[in-house]
Amino acid sequence: MKNPEKKTVVVTGAAGGMGQAICKRFVANGYFVIAGDANAKRLIDTTDELNRSGQNALAKPGDLRSKAYCEDLIDTAISLTGRLDALVNNAGVITRGTILETSDEDWDRTFDINLKSIFYTCRRAVAFMKDHGGGSIVNISSTWGIYPGPTHAAYCASKAAVATFSRCLGRDHAGDGIRINAVCPGEIDTPMLRSGFIHRGFDPDTAVAELSKSNPLGRLGDPEDIADAVYFLSSDAARFIAGTALEVHGAKAVY
Ligand code: NAD
Repeated sequence: MKNPEKKTVVVTGAAGGMGQAICKRFVANGYFVIAGDANAKRLIDTTDELNRSGQNALAKPGDLRSKAYCEDLIDTAISLTGRLDALVNNAGVITRGTILETSDEDWDRTFDINLKSIFYTCRRAVAFMKDHGGGSIVNISSTWGIYPGPTHAAYCASKAAVATFSRCLGRDHAGDGIRINAVCPGEIDTPMLRSGFIHRGFDPDTAVAELSKSNPLGRLGDPEDIADAVYFLSSDAARFIAGTALEVHGAKAVY
């Protein structure tokens, strides 16, 4: 389905809370989405929804711990549409615990999914974009990658690495016409956030209402708040923004 008129974006974690909102935002702006996620059923539901208004998305289920899968996401976009305008590395896992509660397997899984997969997708994408007119890459870090919260050592360290890695790539490849940035979300009401409350035995609705009071803007973030920031950074409106880590947390930056 080569359609050189239609821009193409690869989005990972596309079936998750933020991922679905990000895909919708790109489709609303005329993009074709190559949507990746490990949850095949939820991914297909997501792309079915996106395709109700036309041929807008392709579901590409798989596990980002596989280098071959990471590279295939990029290669599929290129072979199917002939172009790669944007990449959003959004997938991630949250690993809870102090260092004494973190196993070798926890550490490796966290870094494989949250960081190493981004190394693989970015390397493939940059190699294509630099010879095809540039592009944009947005990697989802976390406010906790800048201001670490308690008892999530592996998660915070992996997200700090995502922010720094994005700023390094942004600097290295701005001259190739590729703008690479990170977005650092604060507390966003998604299944990931709610799973933490359930894990600690709290009712998620009550906990979300309580937590909202601690944000200076008086609410938690919505997935759409992040989708807007990601789309902005990917768009021409952000043409002079590269090598940054944009904090999107409603002014709640210290935990
Ligand atoms: P989510 O759990 O709703 O979505 C994450 C998605 O990633 C899921 O659909 C999951 O299936 C997918 N995924 C996980 N491991 C994978 C793997 N090995 N291969 C392929 N896909 C995999 O979470 P979310 O809240 O939408 O989070 C999106 C991103 O935002 C994550 O990187 C997360 O760390 C980050 N973040 C979230 C918050 C928050 O408050 N929700 C805050 C800061 C940063």
